[in-house]
Amino acid sequence: MFTCKRSVQQLLEYLDGEIPPEEQRQLEEHLSGCPPCVEFVRSYRATPDLCRNHLVQRMPDEMADRLKQFLRAKLTSK
Ligand SMILES: [Zn+2]
Repeated sequence: MFTCKRSVQQLLEYLDGEIPPEEQRQLEEHLSGCPPCVEFVRSYRATPDLCRNHLVQRMPDEMADRLKQFLRAKLTSK
């Protein structure tokens, strides 16, 4: 099981491109069992189509960039 911090890192890689299916599965698994992570992504409202099985697909580049900035800031703030 991914930790929250690891999941955020994976989410960044996911936004940057492809991550291995196994890691994507683990990421989805973490999000499905970690309301705080889901809530934090959802509250940013950059991912209206986010659901537990389909992460941030079809996100416009500009939104993805803003989300990445946000996630990176979160990673470095702790
Ligand atoms: Zn989490």
